[in-house]
Amino acid sequence: MEELLAQVAARMGEDARVTVLTGAGVSAASGVRTFRDPGGLWHGMRPEEVATPEAFACDPRLCWEWYEMRRRQIAACEPNPAHEVIARWARQRPGFRLVTQNVDGLHERAGTPGVVRFHGSIWHLSCAARCAGSPAAWEDRRVPLPELPPACPACGGIARPAVVWFGEGIDPRVILAAREAVECEVFLAVGTSAVVFPAAGMIGEARRAGALVVEVNPETSAGAGEAQVVLRGGAEVVLPRLDALLPA
Ligand code: NAD
Repeated sequence: MEELLAQVAARMGEDARVTVLTGAGVSAASGVRTFRDPGGLWHGMRPEEVATPEAFACDPRLCWEWYEMRRRQIAACEPNPAHEVIARWARQRPGFRLVTQNVDGLHERAGTPGVVRFHGSIWHLSCAARCAGSPAAWEDRRVPLPELPPACPACGGIARPAVVWFGEGIDPRVILAAREAVECEVFLAVGTSAVVFPAAGMIGEARRAGALVVEVNPETSAGAGEAQVVLRGGAEVVLPRLDALLPA
C-alpha cells in the first residue's frame, strides 16, 4: 500500500489538477449508512423503492418519513478525516474539484468550497409542482420538520426533497461541471460502488481523458476495472495517509 500511495502522491504535484468523486462510502465512518450495506433497508424496502417520483406520487408522506429518518440520522453525524482532507485540498490546491453523489452535506460542513452535488441535497426542498412562485430549491435544516409532507411556501402545495431520484435527470449545469472535472491529471473515485449513472461514468471518462484513475474503497467496486491504482481501505484512513505524503 505504501508504494501505491507514494505513486499517487508523486502524481499529485502542486500544480496537478486533481478531481475527487465521492460516494456514500466517504461518509460511512461518520455513521451515515450507505445504500448497499446490510443496514441499508428501511421497513424492508430498498431505497430504489422509496426514492422515486412514482413512490412520492403514490405516498408522499411515506416517502417523507424515510427522508425525515435520514435527515435525523445525518444531523447527528460529523464529518470524518476523509471529508477534512478533501476540504483542505479544495481550499489549498488550485485546480482541485470535488464532485459528490452524496446528499448529506458533510463535505460542506467540513468546509469544502464549490462542491458539485450530483444528486442534490437532503437539506434542500423544492415545490413538487414546480410552481412559478417558488425558488428552484430552498434550504430547510429543521429536524424534525414541523409537518410532513412540508408545504411549498409559494403555492401551499406539497414540497419534495430537492434530491435527484432514481429515474430523474441531472441538472445540465452539474453535467457540464462534471464534464469539466474529468479533465484532470489525477482522478480519485472514493467510496462509490460506481453503479449509479451518469455519475459513475465519470471514472471511465477521466481515464479516457488521460487521468491517473485511483479507487479508494475497502471493497472492489464496479469502477475498479477503470482504475490504474486501487487503494484498498476506508477513505477515512487512506486519504489522510495520502495527504501525509504530499508536500506541505
Ligand atoms: P453505495 O451505497 O452504492 O456504495 C458505497 C460504497 O462505499 C461501496 O462500494 C462500499 O464498499 C464503499 N465503502 C464502504 N465503507 C467505506 C469507507 N469507510 N471508505 C470508502 N468506501 C467505503 O453508494 P454510492 O456509490 O454513493 O451510490 C449510491 C447512491 O446513493 C448515490 O447516488 C447517493 O446519492 C446515494 N446515497 C447517499 C448517501 C449520503 O449522502 N451519505 C448515503 C447513501 C446513499
